[in-house]
Amino acid sequence: MKNNTRIDRIRELEKRAQPLDPDGTSRRLLLGDVAGYGEDYLKSILCAPAYNARVDNGQGLLDAPITEGGIGIEKTLRLFQENVATVGINPTSGRFLGYIPGGGLYYAALGDYLAALTNRYAGIFYASPGAVRMENLLLRWMAEMVGYPDSAGGNLASGGSIANLTAIVSARDAQCVQGERIPRSVVYLTEHTHHCITKALRVAGLNGCIQRRVPVDSSYRMQAAALEDCIKSDRQDGLLPWLVVSSSGTTNTGSVDPLGDIGEVSRSNGLWHHVDGAYGAFFALCPEGKQVLKGINHSDSIVMDPHKTLFLPYGTGAVLVKDRTKMLAAHSADADYMQDAFSMEEEIDPAAVSPELTKHFRGLRLWLPLQVVGTAPFQAALSEKIQLARYFYEKIQSIDGFVVGPFPDLSIVVYRYVPRSGDADAFNRCLVETIQQEGRIFISSTRVDGKFVLRMAVGCFRTHLEDIDFALEVIRDTARRLEGEQ
Ligand SMILES: *Cc1c(COP(=O)(O)O)cnc(C)c1O
Repeated sequence: MKNNTRIDRIRELEKRAQPLDPDGTSRRLLLGDVAGYGEDYLKSILCAPAYNARVDNGQGLLDAPITEGGIGIEKTLRLFQENVATVGINPTSGRFLGYIPGGGLYYAALGDYLAALTNRYAGIFYASPGAVRMENLLLRWMAEMVGYPDSAGGNLASGGSIANLTAIVSARDAQCVQGERIPRSVVYLTEHTHHCITKALRVAGLNGCIQRRVPVDSSYRMQAAALEDCIKSDRQDGLLPWLVVSSSGTTNTGSVDPLGDIGEVSRSNGLWHHVDGAYGAFFALCPEGKQVLKGINHSDSIVMDPHKTLFLPYGTGAVLVKDRTKMLAAHSADADYMQDAFSMEEEIDPAAVSPELTKHFRGLRLWLPLQVVGTAPFQAALSEKIQLARYFYEKIQSIDGFVVGPFPDLSIVVYRYVPRSGDADAFNRCLVETIQQEGRIFISSTRVDGKFVLRMAVGCFRTHLEDIDFALEVIRDTARRLEGEQ
């Protein structure tokens, strides 16, 4: 290509690529449209269903394939609203009370906007000292919250599953679980341990380890004495106990294992104690939670999910390891093309303590809300969730036909309806399905002690007393209606 022709071509390409970088006027219009959409969306949440089962399931997206010319912001927002934002579970609704409710704080959305706009590189200190300081500062704040010493390190991950994987890989290498030792190495869990732990063990190459389900008490908490017995008897059989995974609390029932006692058994036996607090560890911010989580500091690692009980949007988990050198040993790596990047040691590089290198600048969505409103509203909201769960626990058992499980440790209540006749499991399945399909509230179910039970999980920052009263009404009325139909 001749030089002049090449320059003409470059100029022409530059012009055609211009829509990637809109000017000030276009930006204001775009932002106005998105902000307007956001306002309409937030206003609609109050009366929007908590679950919208639509037959087309967002099929409309398929009728709008990606094109060369694009369709502009208005049509794009309409497609999003009709096929995504109004279909399926609505986790931003205060009446979403299933699984583990999440959040979607407005302040975090603003943080995400700025994170995408400034696109700081949060993997390595050298690339963005500020972004890395921010992440590590947040992790130190969490470490202090759970009573970990200065030796602790951590990582902001995409969620609890990856955070648990990071902890398990750190534990694996610290305990030298490899090769021929794997089939003789024993992990201790309970039947209520989250399934992502089993998945993490598999991904970490530890599928061959023996997984021992330690008996639980009547509140579904791991029995520390039984754990000690299992460890002893496994040692006598020539096996290699190395890891205890406790939960604070479980996804099933919200039960918090006796963390102090388990910590003691683990320490005296030389095992790594990992606490999966993806759901519950942030309750350490409020007095009720602090009480229940006593002893959490006696663990070796902890997972906590800001996208659950700190009300952040999905994509934010955290892992803390008491001895950060164990995290570094398991994750740091080097490469020639990174030689400039690894030379600064003021702050630990997030990339050196996790499987990720380049990652979402997720610290900003957490830091911004904490800076703007402080921790007090979070503490209050977490206390409120615990109190609402206790309120529900009292109210539901006063309604004829409903029986409850153990007093809630945190913000999850298990309960079920016992019909006058017929199969209780089938009745409760029908009850939860009917409530879900109607969508006024969303609750989920699980199996406990072989029985089909219902779960009330209070976790959204928008869930308040009226929502719980409304849920009680819906559950009561639906049970009565179904009982009448039998
Ligand atoms: C949700 C949850 C997980 C998994 O976390 P994700 O963020 O969904 O990956 C792990 N453990 C417990 C106890 C949970 O509640």
